[in-house]
Amino acid sequence: MNALRRLLLVLVIVGTVCCTSRLSAAETPNIVLIFADDLGYGDLGCYGAKGYTTPNLDRLAREGIRFTSFYSAQPVCSASRTGLLTGCYPNRLGIHGALGPNAKHGIASGEMTLAELVKQKGYATGMAGKWHLGHHPPFLPTRHGFDEYFGLPYSNDMWPRHPEAKPGSYPPLPLFENERIVNADVTAEDQNHLTAQYSERALHFIETNKNRPFFFYLAHSMPHVPLGASERFRGSSDAGLYGDVIQEIDASVGAILDALDKHGLTENTLVMFTSDNGPWLSYGNHAGSAGPLREGKGTTFEGGVREPFLARWPGKIPAGAVQNEPAMTIDLLPTVAHLIGAELPKHPIDGLDIWPLLANQPGAKNPHEAYYFYYNLGELQAVRSGPWKLILPHTARLIQDRGHDGAPGKYKATMVGQSLYNLDDDLGETTDVAARHPEIVERLLGYAEKARSDMGDSLTKRKGSGVRAAGELHSSSTPQAK
Ligand code: MG
Repeated sequence: MNALRRLLLVLVIVGTVCCTSRLSAAETPNIVLIFADDLGYGDLGCYGAKGYTTPNLDRLAREGIRFTSFYSAQPVCSASRTGLLTGCYPNRLGIHGALGPNAKHGIASGEMTLAELVKQKGYATGMAGKWHLGHHPPFLPTRHGFDEYFGLPYSNDMWPRHPEAKPGSYPPLPLFENERIVNADVTAEDQNHLTAQYSERALHFIETNKNRPFFFYLAHSMPHVPLGASERFRGSSDAGLYGDVIQEIDASVGAILDALDKHGLTENTLVMFTSDNGPWLSYGNHAGSAGPLREGKGTTFEGGVREPFLARWPGKIPAGAVQNEPAMTIDLLPTVAHLIGAELPKHPIDGLDIWPLLANQPGAKNPHEAYYFYYNLGELQAVRSGPWKLILPHTARLIQDRGHDGAPGKYKATMVGQSLYNLDDDLGETTDVAARHPEIVERLLGYAEKARSDMGDSLTKRKGSGVRAAGELHSSSTPQAK
């Protein structure tokens, strides 16, 4: 009898452990978020790229979902990353543009990053790559939820060796490990190794943390200029150095997918891939392609902000799905919160849970009424609701001529008037239909007015009542070189 009782007890314990393990696995998927820099809407094979191949990214699309209308939060680096990591429009957090080496501000300590969100559920968190939310210690990834960090604190062209840099305009470019500078003067040769080094960090992190839930944020410095690729990828494509760089990023994705397979983690890992903003078109053959979209980085035309987005989670996200509903980086934080049962921050955020879109549930719709407020710096330049995009009068930088082999071409500042486009019919924003739809113009102007009142608008000189202050550096503690 006692033996039978013991046997039953053992069976109950084993069953409980197994069930808990399964439940735990379902509730706390690993998350790998890969964020490219200045990669365009047309830059992946599965989005029509030519001259090079992206078999591993295409595999992600084949085994998961591909979005056709996915947006970054702004058409430039720091602002875009703020949106991705906090679920807020960057304007709400007082972070605009691209923070340079002289910036004395960064992400405020009171904000909640995606890393801090998943920490609620005991995730291991790591990051490799470009941070760009403040390079002084209080703003570094290790102060904002990441257990470990390796990478550049800001853009790789904020660099005294850049052909366009005026003498004295930039200090040497540092490479960080956690809060220490491990290379105080990154060289062109060092830039060639960034993609490989970041990837090694990702693989090591996955290996080290394979037995607990983890979140790894891989924010590639490439394909932002100046381009750099490892020896083995140089000359590997038919599209010059830009193609080589993309093929190395693609191989890095492949190595991560292989590592997940090797460790038996594929079924329990959500892998996502997207980019911070569109291609830097003035760099000509060193820039990517926005495909059918108008213009690129630095503008709020679709080419500046609409990005490839791929997500794979076998068994949860159907394989080979294509999602045409709009979605945006600010929605990822609340979506992850929903998936893992984490609490959202107490302060307001702008993103909404888009799991029904990621899971490709029948009839799922984007949950936002006015979907996208296209801010550029502090300017509210356009608004989207459904298929309708209303461009508000502003000065845009339009491509005048394209550069070559790392030297940029020129822009021309051009006044753009109020105009309405139906993005379902006119992806390239070619035909203004405002005169035919005055009621839609009025409705979208109403949304714009609400956004101005909440988040401000420098075009109409409005201050937003819902804007929070960025973090300011009060007492400088300079990072120490090794
Ligand atoms: Mg960028």
